[in-house]
Amino acid sequence: QAKLQGKGQVCEFQSGMDTAVRERHDLELDLRAALGRQELQVYYQPLFDIGGEITGFEALARWPHPERGMIPPSRFIPLAEETGLIVPLGEWVLRTACSVAAGWAADVSIAVNLSPTQFQRVDLIDVVRQVLLDTGLSPTRLELEVTESLLMEDVPKALALVKDLRALGVRVALDDFGTGYSSLAYLHNFPFDKVKVDRSFINKITNDPNAWTIVESVIVMSHKLKLRVTAEGIETGAQLSLLKDHGCDEMQGFLLGRPMPEAQVALMIESMACCHQAG
Ligand code: C2E
Ligand code: MG
Ligand code: MG
Ligand code: MG
Repeated sequence: QAKLQGKGQVCEFQSGMDTAVRERHDLELDLRAALGRQELQVYYQPLFDIGGEITGFEALARWPHPERGMIPPSRFIPLAEETGLIVPLGEWVLRTACSVAAGWAADVSIAVNLSPTQFQRVDLIDVVRQVLLDTGLSPTRLELEVTESLLMEDVPKALALVKDLRALGVRVALDDFGTGYSSLAYLHNFPFDKVKVDRSFINKITNDPNAWTIVESVIVMSHKLKLRVTAEGIETGAQLSLLKDHGCDEMQGFLLGRPMPEAQVALMIESMACCHQAG
C-alpha cells in the first residue's frame, strides 16, 4: 500500500510539474506579446534626502496582465532573465524612464535597475549612450543600479564596465547591499557612487540590535569610502529617525512614497516646484 501511495505521489508530482512548465511557457508567450505591444508600464518610487527633499525616483517595471492582474517584477523579471527577454525589456524600461525624466520640471535623478544579462552585453555602453542622446537626458541625472551577483560573474569585465559608465557621466549604485557574499571587497574595488542597503536589513533595525549594528557599520564604512548610502524599504517613523540620526544620506520606502505611475509623479514634481517658488 505504501508503494502504491508512493507511486501516486510521483504521478501527482509529475503532472504538477507539467502544469508549472506549461504555465511558465504561457507566461513567457504573454510577456513576449506584452513587450511587443508596449503593454508594460514603468512606476516611479521617490527617494528623499535627509532634509526630506526629493532627490530622484527609481524606475520599477510593472506588468498589468489582462487576466492575471498586476504581475509583480519578482515574477516576471526572473522569467525575462531566463528567456533573454530582459534585454529588450531592460532597454525599454531605460528608454521610457529616461524620456519621462527628461520631461520633469525638476533637476532630480532617475534610477534604473540593470539585470545581469544586460550587464554582460558588450553593447551596454552604446545602448546607454544612445538612450541619453535620443532622450536628451543629462547623464548626471541617470543612475544605474547593479547587484553583487551581477558583478561576481566576471570581475575585471564588470569593473571596466562600471568605469565606462562613470566616464559617460552616469552614476552607478550597488543595489540590495548585504544580500550577496563579498560585500566588503566589492565596495572598495568598484568605483560606485552609492550603496543601497537592502530592505531585509532596514525592516529589522529597530527591533534587532544585530541588524542595526550592521547597518550602522555600513553607513560609517561607506562614508569613509566616500560613498553615499541609501536605505530602501523604510516603513516606520522609528526606522526613518534612526537612519537620519546616523547620517544615512537617502531614504526610500512605503512610509515616504510608494511606486506610482508617471502622471502622479508629474503632479508631485509640480507641487514641489510650486512650494519652492512660494518659499
Ligand atoms: P529593487 O531594485 O531592490 O527595488 C525596490 C523594491 O522594493 C521595489 O519592489 C519596491 O516597490 C520595493 N519597496 C520599496 N519600498 C518598500 C517598502 O517600504 N516596503 C516594501 N515591502 N517594499 C518596498 P518591486 O517594484 O516589486 O521590484 C522588485 C525588484 O524587481 C526590484 O528590486 C528589482 O530588483 C527588480 N526590478 C524591478 N523593475 C526592474 C527593471 O526594470 N529591470 C530589472 N532588471 N529589474 C527590475
Ligand atoms: Mg533597485
Ligand atoms: Mg534595491
Ligand atoms: Mg532590494
